[in-house]
Amino acid sequence: MLRKEGNTYFIQNQPVSALVEQFGSPLYVYDGQKIESQINSMKEAFSAVDVKLKFACKALTNMSIVKLMLKNGVDIDAVSIEEIKLALRVGYKPSQIQYTPSGVAFSEIEEAVSLGIRLNIDSLQLLEKVGETYGNSLPVAIRLNPSIMAGGNLKISTGHADSKFGIPIEYIDQVLALVNQYDLRIVGLHQHNGSDFKDGSVIVKAMKKSIELAEKHFPNLEFIDMGSGFKVAYHEDDHITEIHELAKEVVAEFAYFQERYGKKVQLWFEPGKYLVSESGTFLMTCNVVKHNPGRNFVHVDSGLNHLIRPMMYDAFQEIVNCTPDTEETEKYDVVGYICETDTLGKDRELPKVKPGDIIAMKNAGAYCFSMSSNYNSRVRPAEVLVYNGRAHLIRERESIEDIYRHQIEVSF
Ligand SMILES: *Cc1c(COP(=O)(O)O)cnc(C)c1O
Repeated sequence: MLRKEGNTYFIQNQPVSALVEQFGSPLYVYDGQKIESQINSMKEAFSAVDVKLKFACKALTNMSIVKLMLKNGVDIDAVSIEEIKLALRVGYKPSQIQYTPSGVAFSEIEEAVSLGIRLNIDSLQLLEKVGETYGNSLPVAIRLNPSIMAGGNLKISTGHADSKFGIPIEYIDQVLALVNQYDLRIVGLHQHNGSDFKDGSVIVKAMKKSIELAEKHFPNLEFIDMGSGFKVAYHEDDHITEIHELAKEVVAEFAYFQERYGKKVQLWFEPGKYLVSESGTFLMTCNVVKHNPGRNFVHVDSGLNHLIRPMMYDAFQEIVNCTPDTEETEKYDVVGYICETDTLGKDRELPKVKPGDIIAMKNAGAYCFSMSSNYNSRVRPAEVLVYNGRAHLIRERESIEDIYRHQIEVSF
């Protein structure tokens, strides 16, 4: 995480200016110890039950990050066959990877199953197809849509009635009919209702729905998977998921359920943002400062091609001038170099910025690099993992050759 000591900004023991000097700008930097402390805080909070963490690796899919998860005993939640292959490649066993596809081709399901991966089933149609194809030979979990509004905004809410995700809980009779018809082995119930939920009690409410179904209809569950949505701070005073408070309620409810259920059940979570958001800092450099009559702009050497959350989700991420010459501040819109409105931060009061200053964006660990693109034919930045005081390059900056790669020039 970015921290200030005297007048210098550091990530762990590394001054940001030294990181930029060594690896170039713009640059994604992740703090390995912060990731480990987030893992440990979740494990501790839920330690009274048999909790399993499955990193939702779409948040940050660099192999070295995924490997750090493996080292820390965190399993994987994958949403594509590519993520599955990446996790296998870094050393995960198939049994440690859960696949939560959304409307993918059946051939992809078959490929995952042939690799030994287990599924959360997201539609009645897929449940039927799995029944026809595998019968009771494949233990599966069902992804339910509980009709609950959870999530910071509509784009990142997935468990409400109008969402594409999951099997609506109202269709439980159809689910049970298919389970009977194909003698399906339902070993898990899954929900993931959205990111950034404002009120932690929503997860308790949602879990009670799974518990109720478990008791009524599914006597052989091995796990209840509550997905994720844990909120971290994006600015000072931001509300966050108080994991220890929430865990108390969840653990009490879950322990009571296990007593009634009469056997041990694992409780799964699939954190993405919670594990990696705060670990990431995106370092950019100011190219141009523009003073217009009503507004000042800081143009940086990046944009929505590298970090799209502010434009895509109206997300707020804190911005810092790491190398100011003065404490005097000015209000700026921090914008990119892309030919498109690509505001990274609006109305930010920063110590006066000059060309060449290093501008940092915090909370750049989750859904930042992993959502980047080559728009404007720009190359993607390098990624660095600082772990135990050492800076490891974990992805090279792309080059123009990467822009040409896969393009085919017709000879006219
Ligand atoms: C994206 C996703 C997550 C992670 O959500 P966060 O808010 O980043 O913790 C978990 N489970 C599933 C199925 C997802 O698609």
